[in-house]
Amino acid sequence: SDDGKVSGRFLLKLSGEAFSGGGGLGVDPDVVHKIAREIAAVVRDGAEIAVVIGGGNFFRGAELQQRGMDRARSDYMGMLGTVMNCLALQDFLEKEGIDSRVQTAITMGQVAEPYIPLRAVRHLEKGRVVIFGAGMGMPYFSTDTTAAQRALEIDAEALLMGKNGVDGVYDSDPKKNPDAVKFDSLGYGEVITRDLKVADATAITLCRDNKLPILVFELLTEGNIARAVKGEKIGTLVGD
Ligand code: UDP
Repeated sequence: SDDGKVSGRFLLKLSGEAFSGGGGLGVDPDVVHKIAREIAAVVRDGAEIAVVIGGGNFFRGAELQQRGMDRARSDYMGMLGTVMNCLALQDFLEKEGIDSRVQTAITMGQVAEPYIPLRAVRHLEKGRVVIFGAGMGMPYFSTDTTAAQRALEIDAEALLMGKNGVDGVYDSDPKKNPDAVKFDSLGYGEVITRDLKVADATAITLCRDNKLPILVFELLTEGNIARAVKGEKIGTLVGD
């Protein structure tokens, strides 16, 4: 990017759905490249970036369960899906000249490091992007909860939630209700009591209990990752 230095450590949560490029399924390399370019720019400017990617472009445990599969096994499939997204992002970061490490909560030594928090922090300090894969490694959790937990453990200053096709938090679904109103800021409590679509309740509760701010923003709008890192007023800020 152009307008100078940034600082701070951030946990960027990327929608798995966005990775499919509108196809719903699999990975669209053009989209991943675009996201990698934006991450590379803020890392060059001095930001420390850790990433958690969803897996909705491959499998969602709850959906497979509805189709008759065992929930825990379906959730493991979901977690493995996130790892493919991680590898795709790593590849394009490399092409942008940015070093990265994938750390997975399910050990798979040939493709990634195991999740070792202190080592992740060390990578970040060296200017490497750390990409956390396989969620928490536990069924019944989500990558939103993973993003909150990892953000806390690596001491990130905010959780930046990049969404697919929506530019913040609304009082109702803007795709269904043309009169939906967007919030500029919101309390954690309101998100929970009004069941607003920010993240699942486990993730929100974890953020609230530890006062971790969440910025919800549209991921694929050009320049938005930089705006989020620079603290510009985009999206919806969830805090106290
Ligand atoms: N998942 C899990 N534990 C985790 C993280 C993810 O079981 O710690 C599974 C779960 O089945 C989920 C899938 O991985 O549906 C994909 O993760 P994501 O959070 O992206 O689900 P989505 O938000 O797309 O439904």
